[in-house]
This record gives sequence, C-alpha cells and structure tokens, in this order.
Amino acid sequence: MDDCLFCRIANGAIPVELLHNDELVAAFRDINPQAPTHILIVPKAHIADVTQVGTNDGQLLARIMQVAAELAQREGIAATGFRLVANTGPNAGQTVPHLHFHLIGGRVLGWPPG
Ligand code: AMP
Ligand code: ZN
Repeated sequence: MDDCLFCRIANGAIPVELLHNDELVAAFRDINPQAPTHILIVPKAHIADVTQVGTNDGQLLARIMQVAAELAQREGIAATGFRLVANTGPNAGQTVPHLHFHLIGGRVLGWPPG
C-alpha cells in the first residue's frame, strides 16, 4: 500500500531507525511517546487492524509477541512490566489504519485506560 504510512516505514520507503526488522515484522519508536519506552511493532504486510487478522496469520502474531518480549528486555522494562496494546477502531482512538502494537513501559501505567 503506497499511501499507507506504516507500510512505508516498515518497508523502508520512509527512513526511520528500525529497532527490529525481519521478513515479517518491523519496530520503531513512536513519534509522540506516552512513556519512557513507546515502540510500535507492525507487520510488514498491510493489515488494517485486529479485525482483519486472518487464520493464516498465526506465525506473524507469534513473531510480534516474541519481538515485543525481546524489545522489552532490551529496553530494560521486562521485569518492571509493560503494556502491549492494539487500538482498534474509532472508540479506541486508532489513528493509523495499519495494524500496530504499542509497547509501552518505563513508568507505572494507569488502569483502566481513559
Ligand atoms: P493509534 O492512535 O493507536 O493508531 O497509534 C498511532 C501511533 O502512531 C500514535 O501513537 C502516533 O504518535 C504514531 N505515529 C504517527 N506517525 C508516526 C510516525 N511517522 N512515526 C512514528 N510514529 C508515528
Ligand atoms: Zn499499511
């Protein structure tokens, strides 16, 4: 998808520092961080949101979880804890229509979210 921001970032058309990059998944820092660690983990393939995940996407989702755990370790937030969240649709405030998981940590996170 040429006009999708996260497709362009994940596939290198927009140069940003990729914290993780493999054939399925890329990760980069959120431009407007909400916590000391705020990383976005995205599939390279265009999937609009959680509702569009298919029955063949199991390997991709497992990879995203593994990458989240690896990055949490690397950021030093694995032991203190973190949140992994995929906002989906307008009520959740999704602003970029390409599936992405926010990895957020480095401070105490409130619950429930607003
Ligand atoms: P959401 O609101 O859940 O769709 O999350 C979209 C996230 O993308 C927001 O946290 C934005 O700050 C972030 N974002 C938007 N544009 C960029 C960009 N060019 N690079 C990194 N993060 C971005
Ligand atoms: Zn996309």
